[in-house]
Amino acid sequence: MYPSIQSSSIKYQLLNKTAPTSGEILFISDLHLSPDRPAIIKLFSQFVNQRAVHAQALYILGDFFEYWLGNDDPAEGLEEVFLAFDALKYHNVPVYFMHGNRDFLVDSEFSKRTHCQIIPDPTKININNTKVLLMHGDSLCTDDIDYQEFKKTVRTEKWKNEFASKSLTERQNIVHSLRETSKTETSQKSNEIMDVNQNAVNETFTTHTLGWLIHGHTHRPGIHHYTINNQSATRIVLGDWHDHGSILSIHNSPSENSFIYKLEKFI
Ligand code: MN
Repeated sequence: MYPSIQSSSIKYQLLNKTAPTSGEILFISDLHLSPDRPAIIKLFSQFVNQRAVHAQALYILGDFFEYWLGNDDPAEGLEEVFLAFDALKYHNVPVYFMHGNRDFLVDSEFSKRTHCQIIPDPTKININNTKVLLMHGDSLCTDDIDYQEFKKTVRTEKWKNEFASKSLTERQNIVHSLRETSKTETSQKSNEIMDVNQNAVNETFTTHTLGWLIHGHTHRPGIHHYTINNQSATRIVLGDWHDHGSILSIHNSPSENSFIYKLEKFI
């Protein structure tokens, strides 16, 4: 029993723990949760209580938060998010968390607090004897050279340690100015630059010798079929949670080595 759920003023519908699971595996990314957009926080909470608590597993593939400053951030306005993680724990749903470019500072303390397991980018999983590669997706956007350079810098231990040593206010200011710069730069970059590079996609399928890739980041939900090295390959792109929720659900198929998948809106 998680007392934080019951003692909270936010009411959670606690389902019977023995309620049958739907068997689906859920994938989400790019929620960009922030106290500035309380409606999306509510929507995530609804998604957890209506869908994810019944699921076999939940995968969060990056940019769950608009930004993450560190565990000393009181994260005001995000309380409901943490309650949702408590609900998932209560229902024994394993939650896997991959970093995005916005929330790469999420660490082991966060994972302890939310009961989720941080997984590396990329991670290979197996669904019904089929290998599936999971990524956030930013590493596929190789045409965005400025971004790839920036990523190299901020992902070093040196940068992360320096950032962590600053006061919360200083960190808030840095993140605020990074977000402003990113907005301006994004608006100046062409559509092609902001999308995945096809060579990078082909290489990913070839290197990992697999036929399925799931990622987010580009905010261009879709299902792309290719033939690479005479093998069929499918790339599923998750949608963002700007105007509505976006989910990929995967169900086991009765036939071996396949599964049923569906990209859905969550409203
Ligand atoms: Mn991203």
